[in-house]
Amino acid sequence: MIDLRSDTATLPTPGMRQAIANAALGDEQKREDPTVNELEARVAELLGHEEAVFLPTATMANQIALRLLTEPGDELLGDPHAHIFISELGGPAVHAGLAMRPLPARNGRFAGDDVRETAWAPGDVHRPLTRIVAVENTNNSAGGRVWPVDELDSVVDACRELDLVVHLDGSRLLNAAVASGLPAARLAERFDTVTICLSKGLGCPLGALVAGSAERMRKARRLKHLFGGAMRQAGIVAAAGVYALEHHVGRLADDHARARRLAVALAAAGLPVDLDQVETNFVQLDVGALGLSAPEGIALLRDAGVGLSSTVHDGVLRAVTHLGIGDDDIDAAAERIPAALSALVRS
Ligand SMILES: *Cc1c(COP(=O)(O)O)cnc(C)c1O
Repeated sequence: MIDLRSDTATLPTPGMRQAIANAALGDEQKREDPTVNELEARVAELLGHEEAVFLPTATMANQIALRLLTEPGDELLGDPHAHIFISELGGPAVHAGLAMRPLPARNGRFAGDDVRETAWAPGDVHRPLTRIVAVENTNNSAGGRVWPVDELDSVVDACRELDLVVHLDGSRLLNAAVASGLPAARLAERFDTVTICLSKGLGCPLGALVAGSAERMRKARRLKHLFGGAMRQAGIVAAAGVYALEHHVGRLADDHARARRLAVALAAAGLPVDLDQVETNFVQLDVGALGLSAPEGIALLRDAGVGLSSTVHDGVLRAVTHLGIGDDDIDAAAERIPAALSALVRS
């Protein structure tokens, strides 16, 4: 099967396995793992923050960030389809005691004025204290879409003006940086905390980091222990992260080009694909418009030898490119998907 279900499907490359095998190791809880220390220093610099903390997952990175920036009873605002809102099991309520309220997001994005209009005025004794805004770039549910930098700035400006903190779920931030041609730090440094995920397009077996000021990262290290995420010879995994930063960032442009090529081919075959939505490594295919449910579409395509996955949007599937997908796979998928669905396309 050509596995386009997610960029989490990547396996370590031979070079990455070599880096894992050769990693210098120590006890990371004592800050004695040189490979973890190196990865944390590199990611802090990459994101334009003082420090970064290595963690097993981006979910834990997000949850630690929310916890360290807030008090129980505070309110979190964000895109209602963001990973933090719908894919972390209500973690903000469980781990940080946050109330959550949606912003009026368009394609997963919103503007400073949306924050100004939604945040409760401070001082009302009945209202939760609106305290934090979460931004997701690239935005997963919107189809891997990229925030224009002026929109990011408008949200951060509004948060500063309103005395709110602002977290960036940048699980796929490097896709955004490559797609927009801007340094990752330009997209990350104005946020209070930033998450990046190593196990998506960067191709690591697992791992993520949260970045922020040295003072906040001291708190993050305590929460890492509290959440059960403090490890031992974690350099065995961090080595994959160091390798990925050296070898797998620039190549994200290949994933983006392959996604676009697939999208253009599917659209040319008459399938409902909105090319304007294809900005990084996701292609959204609306099988609902062909009269299929998402599970029906997935089953039909799986029988044709192509793996797609469902999205939060009814009847919309996604195909995600990653380092396990080459040009030949795209050629094959561009034939198999229309062949499987052609009987349903009205000409
Ligand atoms: C995958 C993802 C996460 C969580 O990453 P894990 O490492 O699987 O916990 C968080 N946010 C976004 C936007 C993601 O796509």
